Amino acid sequence: MRGLYVHIPFCRSKCGYCDFASAPGTPADIDAYLTALEAEAALYAGLAGSFGTLYVGGGTPSLLSPGQLRRLFSAVARLTGPIAGLAESTFEANPESMDAAKAALLKEAGISRVSMGLQAAQDRLLKRLGRVAMTSDFAAAWAALRAAGFDNINADLMCGLPGQTDEDFRTSLDFLLGFAPEHVSFYALEVHEGTPFAAAGVVEEPDMAAGMYDHGAAALKAAGLPRYEISNFARPGRESLHNLNYWDQGEYLGLGPSAASYLDGERRANSPLTAAYEAALSSGNRPPLEYSERLEGRAKRAERIMLGLRRAAGIELADDIFIEFGPELERLLAAGLIERAGRRIRIKEDKFYVSNAVFREFV
Ligand code: SF4
Repeated sequence: MRGLYVHIPFCRSKCGYCDFASAPGTPADIDAYLTALEAEAALYAGLAGSFGTLYVGGGTPSLLSPGQLRRLFSAVARLTGPIAGLAESTFEANPESMDAAKAALLKEAGISRVSMGLQAAQDRLLKRLGRVAMTSDFAAAWAALRAAGFDNINADLMCGLPGQTDEDFRTSLDFLLGFAPEHVSFYALEVHEGTPFAAAGVVEEPDMAAGMYDHGAAALKAAGLPRYEISNFARPGRESLHNLNYWDQGEYLGLGPSAASYLDGERRANSPLTAAYEAALSSGNRPPLEYSERLEGRAKRAERIMLGLRRAAGIELADDIFIEFGPELERLLAAGLIERAGRRIRIKEDKFYVSNAVFREFV
């Protein structure tokens, strides 16, 4: 099963922590972008009908007008066939641009899953993050999605935020669980170079975040959403099929600036610059690449282990892989970071917060 990812690089404004390819754009900017996206999609007409999942992410895809959404979905459907026929189709939204009419349009287009950002349930923290939507907007957008019939919704939640107390975090968790989400993506704040937060000197607080992270993981599990991947928690049967395919080293095509693909053994990503992306496609060329590499042999097997270890269930390895990666696996077992049961290895439940220390062994 191949996945199709479509990137929408527009947001109402830039959040302080954001390092995604996204920027504010006018309706005319979005129209011009859709023209380029249609041209890129046409390059892959040969893959039409081979996709099992769709993920429209960003950026803020819900920023598109109803007309622009229809245009987007018809370009997508030329590759996927009827969207309602896919095993899963996710659409990312932010509360400030989600209402009853848009929720109904998504449903009518065949979208089966919506992912929406909450991050925290205190408006003072949301303002500090540079978020547009406040908690009341989230509640209204959630109600609109449920009323439209969506029974598979993810919410993003963060911890380790500047000015966030343990009490704030617990309140945020309770607030979110009150909506009975099917899926929660839960991250500690990372301050990346080039973001407004980095420029303002905001620093990560790993000790504070680690406590919240462990508490959050336990509370989500107790609420019926066990962890199935480092940062992802779901009710059984509501795990994201599109993302599971990434972690199974499955194939996917990414369209749009910064979008990554893995096809025919080659990993590549488009340049994150929207202007360069549009310029190339309007001249009949392929978009510029940020990188491209062919993973083979040991590097490919190492990647498979790393991706498999992202999953809570871990990964089953053949005997020859245990021999090939014996020293690395022994070090991780001795350090108490992973555990082994027969042919299966996995990261220990209380070590997910330091999973980067595990992955470093395989880079
Ligand atoms: S809404 Fe998401 S993609 Fe847009 S600026 Fe904020 S974090 Fe970045």
